[in-house]
Amino acid sequence: MCLFCKIINGEIPCYKVYEDSDFLAFLDISQATVGHTLVIPKKHVANIFELDSETASKMLVVIKNITNKLKEKLNLSAVNILNNSGSLAGQTVHHLHFHIIPRYENDNIHLAPDAHEIDHEALKNTLSKILN
Ligand code: AMP
Ligand code: ZN
Repeated sequence: MCLFCKIINGEIPCYKVYEDSDFLAFLDISQATVGHTLVIPKKHVANIFELDSETASKMLVVIKNITNKLKEKLNLSAVNILNNSGSLAGQTVHHLHFHIIPRYENDNIHLAPDAHEIDHEALKNTLSKILN
């Protein structure tokens, strides 16, 4: 059984922020910033590629509600919501989870990718791969 399934069934403790019949949210053990929270579906799916549409749409509402609760209780003005799907993307726990990462002044978190020169030919080529 995966680590997060063990948290869901109570074998491993967590700092629970929210729970309902389909989802659990708890503080990330390694707080990127204060209030860093993970939201997971109770049904084990490894990543976004495996997620069914019904759970996906419910999950966004749960993420939104928890984000607003953090905003209110921790007095936030900014947040990053992040999902790593697949090892290449940095996923280390292969049970789908979204990170809610509160942002603070001078918090030293750098998530923005490097800017590249605009290449319209490459953009057209990529778009035709996606659309065709
Ligand atoms: P990712 O790299 O996107 O797969 O994120 C996995 C996250 O799970 C990391 O941010 C870890 O700090 C977090 N994590 C690992 N074990 C636990 C745990 N027992 N309780 C809470 N968070 C955990
Ligand atoms: Zn699992």
